[in-house]
Amino acid sequence: MAKAIENTKSTFPSPRFKPWARFKPWVRKTIIILPVITVAILLIVKYLLPQQSYPSVSKQRKTLKNKPSITPFRVLDSVQIVDDLKFLSGDSCAGRQPGTKGHRLAVNRILMRMRQSALDSFNSSLIQNFEGKIINMSLKGQNIVGWVRGTAHPDKFIVISAHYDHIGKDENGNIFYGASDNASGSACLLALAKHFKQYPHAYSLIFAAFDREESGMEGATYFVENNSSDTLQPKIIFNLNLDMIARGADRELFVSGISHNPSLKYIVDELQQKTNSKILMGHDRGGGYHDWTDKSDHYPFYEKHIPFLYLGTEDHPDYHKTTDSFDKIDLNDYIENCNLAFQMLLAIKL
Ligand SMILES: [Zn+2]
Repeated sequence: MAKAIENTKSTFPSPRFKPWARFKPWVRKTIIILPVITVAILLIVKYLLPQQSYPSVSKQRKTLKNKPSITPFRVLDSVQIVDDLKFLSGDSCAGRQPGTKGHRLAVNRILMRMRQSALDSFNSSLIQNFEGKIINMSLKGQNIVGWVRGTAHPDKFIVISAHYDHIGKDENGNIFYGASDNASGSACLLALAKHFKQYPHAYSLIFAAFDREESGMEGATYFVENNSSDTLQPKIIFNLNLDMIARGADRELFVSGISHNPSLKYIVDELQQKTNSKILMGHDRGGGYHDWTDKSDHYPFYEKHIPFLYLGTEDHPDYHKTTDSFDKIDLNDYIENCNLAFQMLLAIKL
């Protein structure tokens, strides 16, 4: 027995056999250290680097390249939308700059629509007056704000905002019509108000046509800092801001703000299949020119830690030029975007 064991042993390598001995010391060290380094890198990527809540814009564009078209789902009053878009971006409003007759006409138009829709007002007035910078020898700022009580959560408010002011005329008297910026958002806002007065939302909805965005978000800042009702601000749970929602290239419309509120990504996922617009997530990280976080009226809400989403297109060749006019807008695409804003409001669960 003992001999048999001895024989068996002799067929195996000697106990001193070390398979790794054939490698040079630096190779052996690398083999041991490499998995440790790999695990460390993975942990850093997972827990320490900021997480991207959505793929890059170029990847999204690739995915949406051949997006199948669907039958448009449109409930908003298209006739009213086009009528308001045309009026606000017309000769009479003349660029809607504060302190001008054209601006006053725009205020009257928005007031008329909010009254027609029978929106409720705060403190018995749809107008929230404030003082801003001197523009055309005037300090006067006028937000136009109405609301509709929610059916299930009347004490929680969503603010839907769009600025109606623009930059008037150039030194030669040519009008900056501001059709996309932001007659487009304003006309959409008024149609949303009309619809939700007839068919109220689960949450209370505030419709805010903000003044003086172009001079530094003065109206939105005033609204957020000085709500009409002393107790309102803690109840504002969300802001949907509409600014330049027409003229997206290739039917693109950006939903900006997901980086700040990644839990809202479900809204984009849910709506992508319900619209012919191509919804892109982006322009909400990295700072600088391409980060829109501080570029429109959602910013004062963001500063107060109120979640927001911003709907807007990338700059077009007529941005802040006298050629940003009604005739340049593809009405079919624009109305699709308005109805997309409507569907976003239906999809929101906060
Ligand atoms: Zn704008």
